[in-house]
Amino acid sequence: IPNKKIGIVGSGLIGRSWAMLFAAQGYKVHIFDILPQQIEVALADIEGQLQNLEKSGQLRGKLNAAQQFACIKGTVRLEDAVKDALLVQECVPENLALKRKVWKGVDEVAGNNTIFSSSTSTFFPSTFSDHLKNKQNFIVSHPVNPPYYVPLVEIVPAPWTLPAVAKKTREIMEEIGQTAVSFSKEIPGFAVNRIQYAILNETWHLVNDGVLNVADIDKVMSDGLGMRYAFLGILETTHLNAEGFTKYCDSYANTMYSVSKEFKPTPKYEGPTVSAIAKQLEANVPLDKLKAKRDWRDKCLVKLSQLKKEM
Ligand code: NAD
Repeated sequence: IPNKKIGIVGSGLIGRSWAMLFAAQGYKVHIFDILPQQIEVALADIEGQLQNLEKSGQLRGKLNAAQQFACIKGTVRLEDAVKDALLVQECVPENLALKRKVWKGVDEVAGNNTIFSSSTSTFFPSTFSDHLKNKQNFIVSHPVNPPYYVPLVEIVPAPWTLPAVAKKTREIMEEIGQTAVSFSKEIPGFAVNRIQYAILNETWHLVNDGVLNVADIDKVMSDGLGMRYAFLGILETTHLNAEGFTKYCDSYANTMYSVSKEFKPTPKYEGPTVSAIAKQLEANVPLDKLKAKRDWRDKCLVKLSQLKKEM
């Protein structure tokens, strides 16, 4: 019988999403949180989300909402959540000392056949697994928010992670319908944030130098580059934009090089440009309307993920 037990440690935004993704495939999910009332809130929220997804026809998997919710249990005992689990997905706040402590606790009770998977957005796996007796089972599985609609998971090993653990983690992520990418080693920012920061750096300079205003620079992504990047990666985009990648490089290498050479040093994201950009953004989306705009974004992502499935 395959081991279907999943332990979720930390029941905030990301912990809830993981719980739903695993339950959609019938995994037996055990959610632990340091705050007992947070578990209650999380379970109620998950139940509501699953019902809404069912009503709108967005529910993943073959089970109905009630069956999926029945796969998820809350517990105030860490051991109950993690002992002999197939995989433990840690989703506690982004604080290195806290993550070290939480993993030490998991390590003491989990067992050596359990994959130790962290949702960290920023920390190298090696910085909070070196002290574990089962560190060979440790890996980062970094999701993108909201994971229910944006399937990418960055799988990043520590130097001591067993290749079999990286492989099995990828298989599990793919089984629950996520899109896994496997890193050969840890690197700051993984890939999502490295690429995001490269775009953000150039965007900052274009606004700071008065070349484009905030509303217009954002259209460069939302109504330009972003439209094709929702379907094709950057490399395949270039491949299609010429008669193949080799021709693309033949044709554009000099231009790419001479434009890129002009790139300015990395901005520090401080000074009057911060408030100038904030002011223009807030004129369009005031701070008290962020929630409404996020809800709209999630609706858009639902439609986009449907379209991607159809294509
Ligand atoms: P969150 O603040 O919503 O939830 C954190 C939860 O952890 C809370 O329920 C809290 O009570 C619980 N917690 C705190 N200490 C604990 C402990 N010792 N043991 C068990 N539970 C504990 O945070 P989040 O946004 O869900 O982020 C969790 C992780 O996911 C972070 O590492 C973050 O970097 C990563 N992540 C977040 C996003 C995002 O967009 N929010 C995206 C990708 C990855």
